[in-house]
Amino acid sequence: MKKILVMLLEYGFIIAAMVALVAFVGLPPGKGIDLQRQPTPLIPKLVQGTEPWDKDLRLPTQSDRIVHYTMNVKLNVKTNIISGTETLEWKNTTGKPQQDFPFHLYHNAWKNNRSTFAKESGYQLGRLGPDRHDYGYTNVKSIKVVDVKGETDITNSFHYIQPDDSNADDQTVCQVHSAKPVPNNQSITFRIEFETKQPLPVARTGAIRDYHFVGQWFPKIGVWWKNAWNCHQFHATTEFFADYGVYDVKITIPQGYVIGATGGVPKSIEQNKDSTATYNFYQEDVHDFAWVTSPDLVPTVRKFRHVSMEEGERPDRHHPLKEVTVILLTQPQHDNMIDRYFTATFNALRYYGEWYGEYPYDAITVVDPAMGSSTGGMEYPTLFTGGANRYSPTEASSPEGVTVHECGHQWWYGMVGNNEFEEAWLDEGFNTYSTDRVMNTAWPPFNPSRYFFGGPGAGSYVGIPYVVREIPSSRLGAGNSELRRYGKNDVMARSGWEYYQTYGLNSYTKPAMTLVTLEGYLGEEMMYRVMRTYHHRYRFKHPTSEDFIRTVNEVSGKNMSWLFANSWYSSNLFDYSIDRVNNRRIPPPTGVFSLNGKQSEPAPTTKTYECEVVVKREGEAIAPVDILVVFKDGSIRREGWDGQYRWKKFIYYTDSPVSYAIVDPEHKLAMDVNCNNNSKAVRDPGYRSLAARKYASKWMFWVQNYLEFAAF
Ligand SMILES: [Zn+2]
Repeated sequence: MKKILVMLLEYGFIIAAMVALVAFVGLPPGKGIDLQRQPTPLIPKLVQGTEPWDKDLRLPTQSDRIVHYTMNVKLNVKTNIISGTETLEWKNTTGKPQQDFPFHLYHNAWKNNRSTFAKESGYQLGRLGPDRHDYGYTNVKSIKVVDVKGETDITNSFHYIQPDDSNADDQTVCQVHSAKPVPNNQSITFRIEFETKQPLPVARTGAIRDYHFVGQWFPKIGVWWKNAWNCHQFHATTEFFADYGVYDVKITIPQGYVIGATGGVPKSIEQNKDSTATYNFYQEDVHDFAWVTSPDLVPTVRKFRHVSMEEGERPDRHHPLKEVTVILLTQPQHDNMIDRYFTATFNALRYYGEWYGEYPYDAITVVDPAMGSSTGGMEYPTLFTGGANRYSPTEASSPEGVTVHECGHQWWYGMVGNNEFEEAWLDEGFNTYSTDRVMNTAWPPFNPSRYFFGGPGAGSYVGIPYVVREIPSSRLGAGNSELRRYGKNDVMARSGWEYYQTYGLNSYTKPAMTLVTLEGYLGEEMMYRVMRTYHHRYRFKHPTSEDFIRTVNEVSGKNMSWLFANSWYSSNLFDYSIDRVNNRRIPPPTGVFSLNGKQSEPAPTTKTYECEVVVKREGEAIAPVDILVVFKDGSIRREGWDGQYRWKKFIYYTDSPVSYAIVDPEHKLAMDVNCNNNSKAVRDPGYRSLAARKYASKWMFWVQNYLEFAAF
């Protein structure tokens, strides 16, 4: 479809719907908000290595560079086929000779409805239907081993393997066999001739109209990990895992097309005689390479600078960060979103950089996806996609939320290269937690919004936005209800394709809430040290959950393994409640009292009340909790409980009865699935208003839960 038609569609549709909506409910609210926090007085900055805890933290200057990809490819915009050669130099650091090599061919997931990806989606590939031209694939035409003596064709050894399931139709992983083993500490060079046909976009990659988003598009070698090849098939819910290295990629596209790619600014551009142009992108220390091209993309380039401290910045964050070229490629109709994209990207570069470690690459490319391309909200090394609606009000966190989130992936998926097939949460969960922190730090609270009269579009929605201004948006606010509903389905620590309905919960929400809980128990400052140490230690590496937990325990000096045992390695739910608060007036002594066998006078009663507070563990998960007991006279008692047994009773003899009791008063246990039972007040003549207040807050809790859950 032509650009103008798309714009007309988006505009026309929206104008018509706007008229209908205004007639129906009135104009949506449009109060502008200040995007930046208000400054507070100047404070000195913290420089790396100046604190006792961080003096030994060093960011690696380069990765181990196991792979070196040199590619030369050409995109045919008529057929949507990318063809060319890939030269891969792979360094054997496995400690033993290697002769068999698995490769990912991710695009074969879209080849037909018999792939594992399709079968796991109910024999469906998004909107792909009967037209075979809509499907995509990667076809390996030849594969050779190249050495000083020449080339050895090993195409005959090419065969598909299915390491995860017995689906013989799945062609997302292939294996080849070299004639000679490559000894440890030596390299082998493959020359692969291949062609990749882009599908109509399915899972955030593909071609629609003249917009081509190209991700997971080339034969990509697996990772030797834990003494075996790790090369999973492409599943409906899994993401990626690859070794770090160097990408040197030449891409030929028609002249007049705008291109963005991993690596940012091209090293060279050649104009060819056949009305094409060849761009050379180069990037070190990344584990993937993606690109986008379309004649409609509008480039805007700005510099992220972080040389001096701004007024009002916190003193406990690290400075300064290196300069980064930010390349924004927007859709023509989203010109009003340019500043918002930049502000969000700059905030992400800044806060992620200050908290975890600076962004090490020279450039980052932000792609505003084409309408209907299903390519919004996705991360690739040094390039990510956002998503915007022209009419997004400033009170709504779009495109800010998606931009901060996808940019944030650079620090987890990008720089801390965990195995996303097997431990998705180390990327998505950590990033969800961090996104939430950036959003809360850099902006006043946003409000939840809905788009009416629209449908799924460019990673956002087309339609009329309506902002629910009465309720502040909190991304993780819905987590408790999601946990309550699906938390028992699965133990979080499983591979991404092995969940029953809970990939989202266990990859995003639950791990993020675990980190919020961890922060609750450790305190913000200690959490900062933990996260920064973890990031520094595992940048350009492949850490596991155990590496993270070890770092937590070591840095904090506390054994926090109980938290992970009860969350990541469990399907149990946390729920503590105040079961009972009771004040009993102590009656005067009656009956027979004796001392040493002789009748005696009863001891005088010194206190008026016996007060009883019973706290219960309603859930199966166990956590130590605090209890706050507040008495009528304003005095308070704080109690600690290991939370182990099903209940614990506290008894007080006082002259002032208990007014109310709260379990976990600071809400450290963010994963508690029912916060409504966390407190109990004693009914007295004024209880009506108290009860009303409680019901009102309950109602708000449910409204918010519902909204957030629906929005997730
Ligand atoms: Zn994400």
